[in-house]
This record gives sequence, C-alpha cells and structure tokens, in this order.
Amino acid sequence: MTTATTPATATDRAFNFSAGPAVLPEPVIQQAKNDLWNVFGSGMGVCELSHRGPEYDRILEEALAITREVGKVPDNFHILFMQGGATLQTAMIPMSFLPKDKTADYFDTGKWAHDAVAEAAKIGKVNVCGITRDENYCRLPAESETNYTPGAAYCFFVSNNTIYGTQFNRFPNTDAPLVCDMSSDIYCRPIEWNKYAFVYASLQKNLGPSGQACIMVEDSFLQKAPDDTLPKLMDYKVAQKKQSRYNTPNTFAVYLMGQVVKWIKDEFGGLEQVEQYNKEKAALLYDMLDNSSFYTAHVTNPDERSLMNIPFRTTSEALDEKFIVEADKQNLKTLAGHRSIGGMRASIYNAMPIEGVKQLVEFMKNFESENA
Ligand code: PMP
Repeated sequence: MTTATTPATATDRAFNFSAGPAVLPEPVIQQAKNDLWNVFGSGMGVCELSHRGPEYDRILEEALAITREVGKVPDNFHILFMQGGATLQTAMIPMSFLPKDKTADYFDTGKWAHDAVAEAAKIGKVNVCGITRDENYCRLPAESETNYTPGAAYCFFVSNNTIYGTQFNRFPNTDAPLVCDMSSDIYCRPIEWNKYAFVYASLQKNLGPSGQACIMVEDSFLQKAPDDTLPKLMDYKVAQKKQSRYNTPNTFAVYLMGQVVKWIKDEFGGLEQVEQYNKEKAALLYDMLDNSSFYTAHVTNPDERSLMNIPFRTTSEALDEKFIVEADKQNLKTLAGHRSIGGMRASIYNAMPIEGVKQLVEFMKNFESENA
C-alpha cells in the first residue's frame, strides 16, 4: 500500500504530473541507468557509441521494429526520427507538402495548433477550417462549424490539445490527406492508420526525451515532397533514405524511445490495453471534478475530454496557488496549469501509474473539505 508521502514504487520518486518533459516508466529509467554504463555487454555506454557502428545499428533497428509492432504501423508508412521537436515539423510540413497553387486547411484548437497556422502561413496559403480560440479552446469545433477547402493539399490538426485538455475522438470529415500532431497523445490508444497521411509527435510526453520528433509518413504522401531543394536536415526524403542519420542523430532519444515502447508491450501487451488503462485513470479524475462544486474542469463535453491532460481550477486563484503548493508537499508535483489558462493541470500520460491518480484524487477531496 502507498500513502500520499510514499510513492507507488520503492524509490524516492514523486508522482510527476508535468505536461512535458514528463514522467518516464520506472523500468525504462532503471534499464537506461545500466545501459548508460555498458550496453549489450559492449563495454561502452549508450551515449558513447558511433551512430554508424553495430551497436547503434541494433538500437535503431530494435526501436523501429518495436515502434512498428506496438503501434501496428503499416508497411507503407516510414518511421523517421528528426531533431527540433514537434515545432520544427510545423515549418517542415508546409515547406514539403504545401505547393504554391494549393491551400492547406488547419484546425486552430489550441496554442500548438495556432502556432502551426502561423508557421504555415509564412510558407503558403492557409485556411483555418475550424477554430475555438474565442472560447479559450474549451471545446473542439463541431463539423457544422468547419469550412474545408476543396482539393486542399492537406488538413492539419492536433489530436490532443495539451494545454486545454481537448482530444479528438473523430476525424475531420474532409477528403484532404490528414496530417496530425500527436505530440501529447501518441500511443495512448490505437491509431487508425488508414485515416492518416502524416503523423508526428515530439517524444517528451509519451515516448521519451525532448528535442526529438518521431514521424510516421505514408509513402505516396512522402513522394509529394520536393527533391533536393530543401536544406538536408529539413528534407523528409533525405531522412528516409539515410535511415534518420544523415548527420549525427540524437542516438539516446532513439534508444530511449525504443525502451519506452518496449515497456508498453511488456507492461500492457498493446495499445488497446493502454487505452483501457488510460480511460480508467482519467475517469477517476473526471468523476472527482464532475461530482464537486468546488472544482471546475476546463472541458465539459465528455466526447472531447483528453485522456492525457486534465486542466481544472478551484473557486479562486489564491486557492489554486495554495493547492499547487500543498500538493507539491505531498509529492504530487508539477500541477500548475499552463500560464495561458492558469489553475491546475494533471498530465496523466501512459507512464503515470494509477496510484498517482488515486493519490491526487484523495488529495483533492481533502483539499476541498478543508477549503471549500
Ligand atoms: N505540439 C503539442 C501538442 C505539444 O504539446 C507541444 C509541446 N508541449 C508541441 C507541439 C511543441 O513541442 P516541442 O517543444 O517538442 O517542439
């Protein structure tokens, strides 16, 4: 049994509700500690290997294989690793897939989507096909509120809005190829690959460390990218041909992502089970919020509520601040909401154990009865 001051596992680690970089699975960290010292019995640490040597060949191959297996990524999708996090993708996508004579549709459903619109608008014609900015992004645009461009080059959306806590459980009803930023919910549930042309995620929420993106791109969509006109490190075709190592890659990020996805397989079996677990965890918090008049959730529509990021507030800013300070003392860390909406946010990615959510709910109950 665990208590509020004793984390679920026999270590000195807290429950970390950070939106990212975020909690990693404990067995992965333990394995990484060993592999930093000596990986595969090679006598060399994982950060000390040549990116062209046999040990890194194996790390890359294993990371790709497990990512494909666990995510059920079809053979017609390439899996690429690129530096620059998710943000660089928002420039590279229009540079690669938005020709001068076409328009790209973008959903503006949160800060990261909004930033992606601005980045694409520097490069080509953009139509904002759905937006909820005026409502502080507390919901997603309904299909009846969308305005798609016939023959759009692609339609871009963010599947999970990390700051505001909305998550798409449906697909934009357009014929355009779908391009999706899954940074904060990749591998939290199965992915219907036949709906997508291009999926990407920064690793630091569900997959590994920051500074790196994983890209899954369908081959015929990739072929639409220009040949040899983009800077080499911003050219998806180069990344694909050079196995994501045109220059020296972030070898540790690839290694760690491989370990995290392997953990998903070992711990859960597959993404269906991960989704069940995430639903169970999220329900604990949403039930707490819905049954309280002291707390308010930012998102109220159950069909649009995120499994990963749950923003909420108390009855005043002063109490929000007190909540964050007191929770921290109970080893429930990093619960402050993003500065754009304030309040609190519990990020409960795959690696957050259910015990952490239970302890948070218990803390919320006590805090309410002491402060309501
Ligand atoms: N997209 C989403 C949905 C995010 O949550 C974030 C980071 N919080 C980003 C993009 C930006 O990621 P990065 O800092 O890795 O560029």
